Amino acid sequence: MFSYRHAFHAGNHADVLKHMVLIAILRHMTQKDTGFTVIDTHAGAGLYRLDGDYADTSGESADGIVKLFSALAPARTSDAAIKDVAPIIQDYMEAIAAFNPDGRLKIYPGSPFIVQSELRQEARDKLKLFETHPTDSKALAANIAQLQAGRQVAAARQDGFEGLKAFLPPPSRRALVLIDPSYEIKTDYQKVATCIQDSLKRFATGTYAVWYPVIPRPEAHDLPKRLKTLSNQAGKPWIHATLAIGQDEERNVSGDEEKRGHGLTASGMFVINPPHSLKPALAAALPQLLQVLGRGRGKSQALESGG
Ligand code: SAM
Repeated sequence: MFSYRHAFHAGNHADVLKHMVLIAILRHMTQKDTGFTVIDTHAGAGLYRLDGDYADTSGESADGIVKLFSALAPARTSDAAIKDVAPIIQDYMEAIAAFNPDGRLKIYPGSPFIVQSELRQEARDKLKLFETHPTDSKALAANIAQLQAGRQVAAARQDGFEGLKAFLPPPSRRALVLIDPSYEIKTDYQKVATCIQDSLKRFATGTYAVWYPVIPRPEAHDLPKRLKTLSNQAGKPWIHATLAIGQDEERNVSGDEEKRGHGLTASGMFVINPPHSLKPALAAALPQLLQVLGRGRGKSQALESGG
C-alpha cells in the first residue's frame, strides 16, 4: 500500500504538464487582490533531488524537465529549439530555475513548494497539504519547516480526500484544489470522482485540478468522462489537456518497470472552473511541449473544453 514514492518520478513529463498547469492557474489567481486557499490533497515529499538515489534509479526527469531545460532554457539565444516559447512554459521554467540558482538542475520542487512560491504574504494566501505516506509525510514536514512560512502552510498526515472536506468552502470563497493521487490502488479513480462530486456541492465555484495517468485500464479511461459528466451536471466549465510523449523506441520497458510507473508515456489534467486564460495558454504550450518531449510512436497532445 505504501510503495509509491514520488521521488522516483519527480520532474518527469507528467510533472511537467501538471506543474505547468498549476503555475498557470496560480498566476491568474494572484492577479486579484483577495486571498485564496490552495488545498493539495496528495502532496508528496515537497522537494526532490534530481541527482539523488531515487531519481537516479529511474532517470525519469531526463524525459521531462531535463529535456525541456536543455531545449528551451537558452530561449533568449539563437540555440533554442523553439522561438517564442509559450508564456506558461516560460513561467514554469522560471519557477523551477528559481530552485536551482546556480543554473544546474539539481532540485525539483513538488507541488507544495511550487504552490508556496506563488503565494502572497500580504493577501494571506494559504496552503493546506495532505500526505499519508509515513516517510514522505515526515520529509514534507521537515521540508516545510525550513520555509519558515508560519501559518501560511499547514501539512497533515491524513487522507486528502477526507481532509479536504473541512476546507470547503474557504472563508475567502476563493480556492484551488489539486487532486494528484498515485492511482496505485484502482479505487483511487472512484475516490477522485466522488471527491469532485462532493466538493462541487460544498463549493461550486472552486477551481479543481485533477491529474490522472493515461494508461490502458478501464478506470483510467473512464475518469475524464466521469469528470466531464460531473462538471456538465453542475453547470461548470472545464478544460481537459493530455500529453503523450510516445514510446521510447530505444528501451524495452519490463512488466515490473511498467507497474512502478516507469512505462508511463501519457497523462492528463482535467480542470473544473479554469481561469479563462488557461485554454489559449495551453493551446500555445501543448504543441511546443510535444515538439520537445515527444519521442516516438503514439506521441500526441490534445485539448478540449466544455461548459
Ligand atoms: N502532488 C505531488 C507533486 O505534484 O509534487 C505528487 C504527489 S504523488 C503523485 C501522490 C502522493 O499521494 C504520494 O506521495 C502518496 O504517498 C500520497 N497518497 C496516497 N494516498 C493518499 C491519500 N489518501 N491522502 C493523501 N496522500 C496520499
